[in-house]
Amino acid sequence: MANPLRDRRTAADWAAAGQVVEIAEKLSSFQQLTSIVEADLAALDSTKMPNLWRESPITGSLEFGFADARGKLPRVRCSVAATLNAVCQRCLEPFKLAIECETDLLLLGIEEVAEGYEDHEVWELEESMLRPLDIVEELLIMALPFSAMHVDLDSCTALSAEPESREEKTTPFAALREQMTQD
Ligand SMILES: [Zn+2]
Repeated sequence: MANPLRDRRTAADWAAAGQVVEIAEKLSSFQQLTSIVEADLAALDSTKMPNLWRESPITGSLEFGFADARGKLPRVRCSVAATLNAVCQRCLEPFKLAIECETDLLLLGIEEVAEGYEDHEVWELEESMLRPLDIVEELLIMALPFSAMHVDLDSCTALSAEPESREEKTTPFAALREQMTQD
């Protein structure tokens, strides 16, 4: 069975079909996102390179429909999640970065305006044919943090190293030296 994630149809066709696209992919299905992750991981020593980073799971669903009762405004309800390998910008160690995106997008042509829907997020259709995979990829790229860092602070070696260095400053030798200079 062909995966509708890779099909190209007009936004109106997707919406009229009420298409639900289930996403159960690997990172390698998304070329641009793979290049971004690859460039990030290039900072790592080859011994620290995570295995199978291209196979990171990407899951979720897209549900197409219309935002209005008259069926003029195609929209897509998106729920996308990924767990990618990234390099922590604080300690420069690899870690698993979880990203999530939940959003409703109006599918409009360039310059098209939907009156009364100004507060909705808009996906601009650059071509008449729309491939669901492209929406998923762009949502994930936009959800990437500007600077990736360990969320679990205990795992971040840059932070766990700090108390140690503080301890060093109060070694018995330092205390002894201080005493001697005072004498
Ligand atoms: Zn870290």
